[in-house]
Amino acid sequence: MKSIRVRFAPSPTGALHIGGARTALFNWLYARHYGGNLVLRLEDTDTGRSTQDSAQGILEGLSWLGIDWDEGPDKGGNYGPYRQSQRLDIYQKYLQELIDSGAAYYCFCSTQDLAAEKARAREEGCEYRYSRRCDSLDRAEALQRVKSGEAAVIRLRVPSTGTTRVDDLIRGEVEFANSLMDDFIIAKSDGWPTYNFAVVVDDHLMAISHVIRAEEHLSNTPRQILIYQALNWPLPQFAHVSMILAPDRSKLSKRHGATSVQEFRELGYLPQALLNYLALLGWSSGTDQDLWDVNDIIPLFNLDHVSRSAAVYDLEKLTWMNGYYISQAQSELLAEEIMRADRVKAWLSSSTMGHLIEVVELIKGRAKLIPDLIDAAAYFFEPVSGYDEKGAKKHFARENSMELLQADLEVFSADQDFTLQSLETALRNKASALNVKAADLIHPLRLALTGRTNSPGIFEVAVLLGRDRCIERIKQAMGWIDQNQANHRLQ
Ligand code: GLU
Repeated sequence: MKSIRVRFAPSPTGALHIGGARTALFNWLYARHYGGNLVLRLEDTDTGRSTQDSAQGILEGLSWLGIDWDEGPDKGGNYGPYRQSQRLDIYQKYLQELIDSGAAYYCFCSTQDLAAEKARAREEGCEYRYSRRCDSLDRAEALQRVKSGEAAVIRLRVPSTGTTRVDDLIRGEVEFANSLMDDFIIAKSDGWPTYNFAVVVDDHLMAISHVIRAEEHLSNTPRQILIYQALNWPLPQFAHVSMILAPDRSKLSKRHGATSVQEFRELGYLPQALLNYLALLGWSSGTDQDLWDVNDIIPLFNLDHVSRSAAVYDLEKLTWMNGYYISQAQSELLAEEIMRADRVKAWLSSSTMGHLIEVVELIKGRAKLIPDLIDAAAYFFEPVSGYDEKGAKKHFARENSMELLQADLEVFSADQDFTLQSLETALRNKASALNVKAADLIHPLRLALTGRTNSPGIFEVAVLLGRDRCIERIKQAMGWIDQNQANHRLQ
């Protein structure tokens, strides 16, 4: 059996979009499943839009996700170079071959000539197709004109009848009428190949067995097949993965929020969550299991389980998955991650990394995004500077609020052990002695210790804050209530 070789071939003209990341992931899963090779090829023939920064960003995005490749611009390999801009002489060779065999021809039509043709087609109400005017030029004469420096593109001669069939591993057989395809351009007048030509030459010379890519390239495939045929090359297998649609089923775009891997990273998504989510955008295990380590998908992955219908993107589900992966992540790693923020760096000037890790351990089960961890950790490292407004109305404005906090203060002052159990027992005993519910003591206590109405278990929070800080915060809350009552009396 021919060895499996797949490729991810981004154009470095922007960030790594999640659609691109999913294509990369499917290629990676396919390569890893079959013990094949994943090639990374940079398709930078659009010289006006390709940048080194984009190329760098795409490689970094893939690495951050944990998608590794076996050959590529940074790694080398036996089929390089892996950057199309470094393969121009290779394309020239095959362009020449097509000119020599008569499968392609030089076209000297100017932009104005073509615009006039298009305008005529519009007037006549018919679909525009190149008139093939230059196809009838004498070959020797055309060559002479090119030699003398006249600008020319190269066009592939496309049969005007019949069909070209794409056998797609996901979409089945798709037929395209040749009459609908122009004699399309395979090399521009500056000598650079067009996408369709470069991709065929590269996929063939890089011995790619399976072209797995986005559905938007399906309509390019018949053109590519015609190039393979003109060069007498065997076809690879094609598989076009469905579009990712926004929840309103429109094309996913900027207006739907983050779309690039880098943006998701900055928002606080973990690579495991993004990978898990992207894997399920189009692939299905046939079970209702949602949470997957991608390494467990490798043995199951094949193209039969990749759906033909569009995948609808659901940010809520991705965020839910992210929460799961945060709750499962090592607290040390999460602490390191949040330490990149200046706010957290400032905390560590008066506290220790060990304390930060303990706090993260306590709060990570409730965070959805990495910044949630910073927010939830804040009251362990910063003073409580105010109280949740609704919470204060509910828990600090009752007639007996002061007494309840006083009772909390007594519990905290008397408890020498200051453990989860000792605190809880003491507080519950106090509540029964006062004939109130434990919750009556806990709600104001939570607000006093954290400034908030939501927190992890209050005894865990208290133990981590330490006795002195708890006592100080309860007294601060009592002072606040006192002040508020005084203000009320003045009004
Ligand atoms: N360079 C193309 C893109 O970024 C992909 C080409 C292909 O996979 O054939 O969309």
